[in-house]
Amino acid sequence: MKSDAQKPSTWKPYKKGMCDGCWSGCCTLPLEASAYDLIRLELITEDEAASSLKKVAKRLIKEGFVRSYHANSGLFMIEQRHGRDCIFLGEDRLCTVYEKRPEVCREFPKIGPRPGFCPASKK
Ligand code: SF4
Repeated sequence: MKSDAQKPSTWKPYKKGMCDGCWSGCCTLPLEASAYDLIRLELITEDEAASSLKKVAKRLIKEGFVRSYHANSGLFMIEQRHGRDCIFLGEDRLCTVYEKRPEVCREFPKIGPRPGFCPASKK
């Protein structure tokens, strides 16, 4: 059965090497980033993070990097395009900011909607 990224019940148990040639379905999931992630992505400075995150969110929403900001958790929802793709996903379906990617991307699928499983399918 083919995995549907939006339906974790269809995901497969993660195994090493599964990412090779994958269509990157994990990069179509909602992505929440912290202020620290945004600093590493070079979208904001440390000074901005220490001041008003609401102000930061306003700018990043205007610039098209962020969809929304949740003040309670301090997390920013990264914008998506072409339906559900992360804005940092390249045409070749590889991450264009791999070295600077947010923490949740580094930890997936250890953390995520269904820990230990992923929506793997070939490109
Ligand atoms: S930042 Fe990179 S790894 Fe993370 S969801 Fe976006 S494209 Fe995928």
